Amino acid sequence: MDIINLLSEHISNQIAAGEVIQRPGSVVKELLENAIDAGAKSIKVHIKDAGRTSILIQDNGSGMSSKDAALCFTRHATSKLKKVDDLFQLQTKGFRGEALASIASIAHVTLKTKYKDQQDTGTLVEMNGGTPMRNEECICEQGTSIEVKNIFFNVPARRTFLKSDNVEFTHIRNEFERICLAHFETSFILTHNGNEVYNLNAGNLRKRITDVLGKKSNENLVPIEEKTDIVTISGFVGKPESAKKSRGMQYFFVNNRFFKHSYFHNAVSKAFEQLIPEKSHPSYFIFFKIDTAKIDVNIHPTKTEINFEEGKFIYTILLSSIKQALGKYNISPSLDFDLETSFDVPLSHKNEPPVEPEIKIDPSYNPFSKFETKKGNNSGTNKALNKQGFGQKSDTKEWENFYAIREEHKEGQIQLIEAEDDYSKNKYLVKNRYLLSNVKSGILIIDTHRAKQRMLYDEMMSTFVTKPLSAQKLMFPLQLELDQNEIDSWAESTTLLSQLGFHFTIETEGLKIESLPSCVAEKDSNICVQNITNSLSGTEQPERGELAHALISNLVYVVSNNFQIKSDHEIESFINQLFTCEDHSFCPFGKPIMQTLTIEELTTKF
Ligand code: ADP
Ligand code: MG
Repeated sequence: MDIINLLSEHISNQIAAGEVIQRPGSVVKELLENAIDAGAKSIKVHIKDAGRTSILIQDNGSGMSSKDAALCFTRHATSKLKKVDDLFQLQTKGFRGEALASIASIAHVTLKTKYKDQQDTGTLVEMNGGTPMRNEECICEQGTSIEVKNIFFNVPARRTFLKSDNVEFTHIRNEFERICLAHFETSFILTHNGNEVYNLNAGNLRKRITDVLGKKSNENLVPIEEKTDIVTISGFVGKPESAKKSRGMQYFFVNNRFFKHSYFHNAVSKAFEQLIPEKSHPSYFIFFKIDTAKIDVNIHPTKTEINFEEGKFIYTILLSSIKQALGKYNISPSLDFDLETSFDVPLSHKNEPPVEPEIKIDPSYNPFSKFETKKGNNSGTNKALNKQGFGQKSDTKEWENFYAIREEHKEGQIQLIEAEDDYSKNKYLVKNRYLLSNVKSGILIIDTHRAKQRMLYDEMMSTFVTKPLSAQKLMFPLQLELDQNEIDSWAESTTLLSQLGFHFTIETEGLKIESLPSCVAEKDSNICVQNITNSLSGTEQPERGELAHALISNLVYVVSNNFQIKSDHEIESFINQLFTCEDHSFCPFGKPIMQTLTIEELTTKF
């Protein structure tokens, strides 16, 4: 008996959709890529209910003719590939002609498009679960707008498989960020339920990174640039001191396409070896320009891995270019190498001729020399933790090293301050944060925020190592929606968390937090649990002592946000309390608490 059938186009589209479209984030990725391929210079993304209800993407790209508008929903319909050889010369993101067919088969889609030279009307096409419903003329702008509604309406198993709005929107945001970092010459808008999440003007890469990550990231960007016959590498790496416990800000792009590559990632890690603590992660935004024939992107529609013909060679170039950049740019505070005039420059200065910035390079600085670890020179914290058996399970050397570096800095600072005998007189509080005090060598500036963090940290740590921190039961338990990894990381650290005052029960899609440490104000409870989640899930198999340090630092961070010195009277006791801390020079995050502006430095300013 013959039993083989040819699947209908409708069924095969749905099967393809299962691979290409896994969640609303995949729709956003595909539609954004199409808009970029169409040469759009302005792209707007409007999301409702994390993409469950609607995803609307509008672009001002080439648009489509009315014939193409009908054809684009057919499987394997693409304008980007005509002959086999084109596969090896791909300049576009798409080429399979699968995305629109897949999307249309599992959602309600409305397309409005007008081709670039079309003077009059555009075309409107409506598809319901793969079936064409309308195809008519319409009034619209040049470019394309596609709205995808009720995703997976006809695949209930997929729809119920979707995670919470938070999780799904994070996926959308990640896809959006990957595309907009690679295409800084295009302006982007992202809204969620009517709220603006991003409004990014076209600019250069540095501007785009700081627009996405926050202005503060600007001073942490170190440019890298390397041109060879095989590959051109450009972009930025984060300064070692900005390395984070959690991964995240790590982007590779090849010919402006985001990709993941564990081998190249190792090259970056190697360049940062000895510069950052073992379990922290440097950020990077690295662009490779390479002959398209030398890479193979034809692996899988949703995979982000890419094969390189000359991977080994590129590894070496990458490693050396980062090392060089880190050595070269170990310069005083921050310097913007390709700062745009439209960015950060006050209006009144815009027409002034640019002055070349002065670069101060410390020639004696060698970022690759090994840190010296002094025996028995651990910080008080580490000693306390070790005494209680924390951190002894695994080799804590890296962590100790981390503190050993701080200790070395600290010595100079302590001597300087102890030599002053009148630091407690004539104090001024600036911006409710910086305490200025006249000292022999100049002006001593204490960052009271960081000082408070140190005091709180020492206080909590000394309680924590002997007994649990006091907890407050919440009248209304906090309901947290988390993904499975995050739930697992809370579950794995239950004992440690309960010692800190967090009591919770695990539910199917998240956690119910029943109590928090007493020191956390109610209004900070959400941000507190969010930070704790990040610390817990940010590192792979963190060692216990390190995790305790990270969690307590996080608590301290949240609690210290509410701190302010309220009267002059308080200043005296505040300073006294600070100097009772064993390590009063650095906050728990390793940043300096005090600085001296010397008389010499003051003189050079006049
Ligand atoms: P692919 O991108 O792999 O070619 P898609 O299914 O994503 O396949 O798109 C099919 C075709 O529809 C594209 O090749 C392109 O010609 C056209 N198209 C899709 N989106 C747009 C857009 N935003 N602007 C102009 N043309 C588009
Ligand atoms: Mg496409």
